[in-house]
Amino acid sequence: MPARLWSPWTGKSWRRTSPSSPARASRYTRLFRVGRTARCFVCGSKAVAYVPYLGDYLCREHFVEYFERRVLETLKTFRLVEPGDRVAVAVSGGKDSLTTLYLLKKFSGELGIEVIGVAVDEGIAGYREYKLKALADLAERLGVRIFIGRFEDYFGLTLDEAVEVLKEKGFEYKPCSVCGVFRRYVMNKLARELGATKLATGHNLDDEVQVFIMNALKAHIEGVVREGIASATGGEGLVPRIKPLYFVTEKEVLTYTLLKGIQTPFVECPYIVYALRHPVRRWVNEVEDEAPGFKYRILAVKELARKALPEPPGGARKCVICGEPSSKPVCKACLFRAYLDPEFAAKLGGLKLISRLRDEDE
Ligand SMILES: [Zn+2]
Ligand SMILES: [Zn+2]
Repeated sequence: MPARLWSPWTGKSWRRTSPSSPARASRYTRLFRVGRTARCFVCGSKAVAYVPYLGDYLCREHFVEYFERRVLETLKTFRLVEPGDRVAVAVSGGKDSLTTLYLLKKFSGELGIEVIGVAVDEGIAGYREYKLKALADLAERLGVRIFIGRFEDYFGLTLDEAVEVLKEKGFEYKPCSVCGVFRRYVMNKLARELGATKLATGHNLDDEVQVFIMNALKAHIEGVVREGIASATGGEGLVPRIKPLYFVTEKEVLTYTLLKGIQTPFVECPYIVYALRHPVRRWVNEVEDEAPGFKYRILAVKELARKALPEPPGGARKCVICGEPSSKPVCKACLFRAYLDPEFAAKLGGLKLISRLRDEDE
């Protein structure tokens, strides 16, 4: 029997008032290519999107309702937030994080939460400034306060500068690895200092599937266990993380932003070419095209795997260098910083010593 997965509100309770569209969904008529004849199965109006898990088309109004109810039910069913929570949304300025910010703000009254935004300026010329502009525009429209942490202030160098060093050293580490570690570090510290009780990220179903496949390819079992809809408990100094868009696909998010006028510039991070993520994403989309529902089944496999595996040990201790939560004596951000910045390493007794501390388990 195929793996079954609980799914938030799917819209299947809607009564069909219109016969199904004559042109059933084929590879060519799905999202963005809805044929001129496609009609919403609820009201019969012109369709804007095909929803694979519903197996039918929806108009503008019903797509928005479907999407919002699905996210709201995810938040409620998994108790991702509680009344009184101060939720910091980790916003990059991309469509996923802006949608997360938009929806949490929209539901904030109903859920009894306060919403703020935290952003990271990595220092990537020709990319970050555009994304931050989109973020500032939406934040103003919503009346949400945004707080920005800069790599330069936290680590003494921009990502552009870090990539130069990585290049000189032959890309022993990929830019995305360093950037990811630094981003999580800044987001968590900033959110905690702002008194946030939850940190919401914009990870959607596609992200979850891609990360799961990459973890599986690298046999990184701990990564599989860690990447759930919410972090288990957080641990001291770690703000618990939640993913409200866990059950909606990238295409659905994109459709929603277009319908809602949530604007984000189409600029990609210049370092994406160095990432393994890109080919995996392409491959997953190709298979999904051939066999609709593939992504959802992968997510189901992931949830089954997570249930079967033991929970990883939490980051109970503190980094001896910076005092931030870490699973090892030295946190990964400090290790990368020492690797990239010889002066920083020298002050602390050299990179060798720091690496040795990092590897020590007890
Ligand atoms: Zn409709
Ligand atoms: Zn540290």
